[in-house]
Amino acid sequence: AKPIVAIVGRPNVGKSTFFNYVAGKRISIVEDTPGVTRDRIYTEVEWRGRKFTLIDTGGIEPYSENKIMQQMKRQAEMAVEMAEVIVFMVDMKDGLTASDKEVAVMLRKSGKPVILTVNKVDRVGELPAEAYEFYNLGLGDIMPISSVHGLGMGDLLDEIFKYF
Ligand code: GDP
Ligand code: MG
Repeated sequence: AKPIVAIVGRPNVGKSTFFNYVAGKRISIVEDTPGVTRDRIYTEVEWRGRKFTLIDTGGIEPYSENKIMQQMKRQAEMAVEMAEVIVFMVDMKDGLTASDKEVAVMLRKSGKPVILTVNKVDRVGELPAEAYEFYNLGLGDIMPISSVHGLGMGDLLDEIFKYF
């Protein structure tokens, strides 16, 4: 069986955009506003002759802040159970949020490898100073990417393959 990698994170950080970029096609629905119910979506990714299955998590409905948090946790827990490696995505434009911190606590407890991925780093070059606050999550090093522009993808895929 191919190793499973799950993309986890609060709504609107760019999980589906990343998923679609890596899948090379538009499978997952990208929304400007969080809250569209989406099914879990799988794709096979091949990189440098090796393969894994990537899962995009979604399905969050904005009944209330609590509901979002609940569903996000449940979704993340399921993904964590299934996956060998977690891509935990945060958003450089929004910065570090309370929801990010909640997810990080749960992911750290899981003991699974977590790759902290900072999306929406749209410019090539030096890492913007804002990105450094994500080190406060206590998950180690960060991988900067831009899912819209396809930046940092090779480095992130190489990092994923280090774990299996
Ligand atoms: P999800 O809820 O985490 O799946 O997020 P989506 O993939 O639906 O994206 C939410 C919004 O962020 C959309 O408007 C995307 O176009 C935008 N977005 C995603 N990735 C990037 C990125 O790398 N840079 C910028 N500037 N916007 C992005
Ligand atoms: Mg999505």
